Amino acid sequence: MAVLIIDGGAGALLYEAEHRHGIYDALQVGWKVLTRGGSALNAVSKAITNMEDNPSFNCGTGSVLTIDGKVEMDASVMTEDGKYGAVGAIRQIKNPILVARKVMEQTDHLLLVGDGSIKFARLMGFKKYEKITKRSKDRLAKLKKEGKSDYFPKLKKYMKLGTVGAIALDNKKRIAVATSTGGINGRLSGRVGDSAILGAGTYADENGGATATGHGELIMKLFLSKLVVDLMKKYSAQKAVDIALKQVRSQKGLCGIIALDKKGNVGIGYTPKSMSWGYIKDGKVNIF
Ligand code: ASP
Repeated sequence: MAVLIIDGGAGALLYEAEHRHGIYDALQVGWKVLTRGGSALNAVSKAITNMEDNPSFNCGTGSVLTIDGKVEMDASVMTEDGKYGAVGAIRQIKNPILVARKVMEQTDHLLLVGDGSIKFARLMGFKKYEKITKRSKDRLAKLKKEGKSDYFPKLKKYMKLGTVGAIALDNKKRIAVATSTGGINGRLSGRVGDSAILGAGTYADENGGATATGHGELIMKLFLSKLVVDLMKKYSAQKAVDIALKQVRSQKGLCGIIALDKKGNVGIGYTPKSMSWGYIKDGKVNIF
């Protein structure tokens, strides 16, 4: 049995119809891999690459900006056999998820950040890509104008959330998780969030996989994805997500999480107003 679940980020869903279409497209791309006997890793890589190229999502081309107007992205990938690769605060790259996968497959490291990650990407043949959407510029301008943030009170600014994540189970029972983000609007340059950190934004083992979205600082403190996967030793994916979110709620945190257990059960939950998500199971598409 193959299953693919993805999310387009939690928070205020600014572009709901676009997200619905985008989730549908990414599901189709990943599902095609799985139905042709491809690996869970290829399925999540394709799904996330598709979302990184869709400016509706906060990752890749649609990334929100740092306080000084720069695109800096985090991405990670992990498989159930413990392999992991990530990039943090990477710039001038179209698809950070593919660079994270190269870190996993071609280096002895887990995480490359900043200039080093760009140098590595060029070595691996990734071309320079620098695009900032008008929407991202407008969002930063709005933040600066309003001057308040619920999440970064020290910045006294404002922001919206929206990482993307994907988890697949393939016909050979392999599990892969991928997460990619443009970070949080208006954060300091050099900040690395949960999407690059093992066990925080992304985790997988033989029990299942999980990917998180939302307030990265809290997700890192809770090791949210690892927490959910650990809970899946005992509970179904949905129950594991529900238990983990209690911890998020107790801290009044804004986080979303999707999970997939080894039996192919999905789990979806979030504390902000909304989250875009979708999955394909038994060939049937379900979208938020
Ligand atoms: N978790 C991401 C971060 O903190 C943001 C998001 O999910 O929207 O960088």
